[in-house]
Amino acid sequence: MHRTMASSAETQKTAGAEGSRQWFERAKRVLAGGISSSARATTAGALPHPIYIERGAGSRIWDVDGNEYLDYLLSYGSIILGHGDAGLAVAASAQLDSGTMFGTCNIVEVELAEQLCGMVPSLELVRFANSGSEAMCGAIRAARGHTGKSKILKFEGHYHGWVDVLAVSNRPALAEAGAFEAPNSQAHSRGTPAGVVGDVIICPWNEPAILRAILDRHEGELAAVVAEPIVANNACVMPEPGYLELLREECTRRGIVLIYDEIVTGFRVATGGAQELFGVAPDLSVFSKALGGGLPISAFGGTRRIMDAVAANTVKHGGTYNGNPLCAAAALHTLRVLADNDVRARMNNVGEAIIDGIRRSAADCGVPCVVQGLGTMFQVIFGLTKSPRHYREVLPANTKRYAAFQTALLRSGLHVNSSGLACWFVSAAHDADDVRITIAAIDAAMRSVA
Ligand code: PLP
Repeated sequence: MHRTMASSAETQKTAGAEGSRQWFERAKRVLAGGISSSARATTAGALPHPIYIERGAGSRIWDVDGNEYLDYLLSYGSIILGHGDAGLAVAASAQLDSGTMFGTCNIVEVELAEQLCGMVPSLELVRFANSGSEAMCGAIRAARGHTGKSKILKFEGHYHGWVDVLAVSNRPALAEAGAFEAPNSQAHSRGTPAGVVGDVIICPWNEPAILRAILDRHEGELAAVVAEPIVANNACVMPEPGYLELLREECTRRGIVLIYDEIVTGFRVATGGAQELFGVAPDLSVFSKALGGGLPISAFGGTRRIMDAVAANTVKHGGTYNGNPLCAAAALHTLRVLADNDVRARMNNVGEAIIDGIRRSAADCGVPCVVQGLGTMFQVIFGLTKSPRHYREVLPANTKRYAAFQTALLRSGLHVNSSGLACWFVSAAHDADDVRITIAAIDAAMRSVA
C-alpha cells in the first residue's frame, strides 16, 4: 500500500524512513559507498542516506517507504516525458520483443539520426553513444582529429561529465581556483593524469576581455572551445547577450572548433536546443538526457567538414552498445513527441508558474534570492540579489538556506535537486494540479527558512 500525496503541502513525508535506511546499509556491503554514481551520495540532501525509489508514474515517484513525491529531479532532466510514458513503453516493448542488440547496423538508428539531424540544423552527421560523458569524449576527439591540436578551452564551473578529458575545474574551491583572469586547471578527482589536466585551459564564463586574452595566449594551440550554453551545473547561469556570438566569432577567426554541450539543454529549451533558442550554431554539439526519455543514449555530431574524419574512420569512435535499437526506439519516440512545440510550451508554462511562485513566496517572506533559467529548467539562489554571471559569482550563495529549503520541500513531497548549484526540471507530465501543490509546498518551505 502506498501512502499517497494529499493535495496539501502540510503532509509530512517520512523520507529517510526505515526502508531506505535498510537498503542503504545492505547496498554498502557490495556497492562502493552504497551508490552507483558519486552524485547520488547527496541526492537526499541532509538525510544520512539516499532515498530508494520503487516506481514512478507521470510527474510522481514513490519510495520504498510508500512516500509519494512530485519529481523535479527527473533523473537530471532525462525523464522529459514523465515517468513510465505509455508511448515510450510501447516503443521500447516492441523492440524488446524483437531483440535488443545485434552488434551490427539497424534501421532504428538510421531513423533516429534522420530525426535528430532534422531537429537540429547544425547537425549534418552524427554518431550515437551511451552516456553524456562518452559522447563528449567523441566530440573532443573529433575536434582534435580535425585540428591536429590537443588543448581544449573549458569554462570554470561548467560540467561535461566525469571522464578525464574534461573533468577539470568543475567546481573548484575558491582557495584552489587561482586568479580570476587566469584560473588554475584543477583536476576534479584524484586519479586524473597531470598531462590530461594540463591540456585543459580554464576561462571564466561571460567575460569577453578575459576570453580574448586567454585565446591570444594560447593562439595556435587550441583544438576546441567547449561550453554549456546555459550552465545547468551552475544554477542555470545564462549567457550574456552577445557572448555566444563572441565565442562563435573568435572560434571561426582562429580555426578552433566550437562545441556546445547540449546534454541538458537539447530538446528541452527549444526543438533544436540552446543553439536554436539563441540563434548561434556551434561546429559540434553533444546530446543525451532528454534524447532517450530515460533510456541511456547520447549523440555527438556537427558539420560534415569536421565529422568526415569520423566517417572516414581516421578519427576512431566505437562502442558495443552504440545505436542499439532498444534505446534508439525510445529516443525516436521521445524526439517525435518533442518535435511538437506545444509540448514544450506546456512544460514552459508549468515551470514559469513555479518560478513566479518561488519569487512571490520569497518576496512575501522577505527572503533575498534570485530565480534564474527558463520554464523547463531553473534554480533559486538564496542570498544573491542579482543574477550571477559566472561560477565565482554563484559561490557566495547561501547554501545552508537552500539545504534547509530542499529538506522542507522533501518533507512536503517535492523531490528537487539537493544541490543549489544544479537545477530543477519540468516534464511534459507535470500539470496545473501539480503546480498548485508545488506552490503550496514552496510557500510552506519558504516560511520555514525565512
Ligand atoms: N554534460 C552536462 C551538461 C551534464 O549535466 C552531464 C551530466 O549531468 C554530463 C555532461 C555527463 O553526462 P553523463 O552523466 O550521462 O555521463
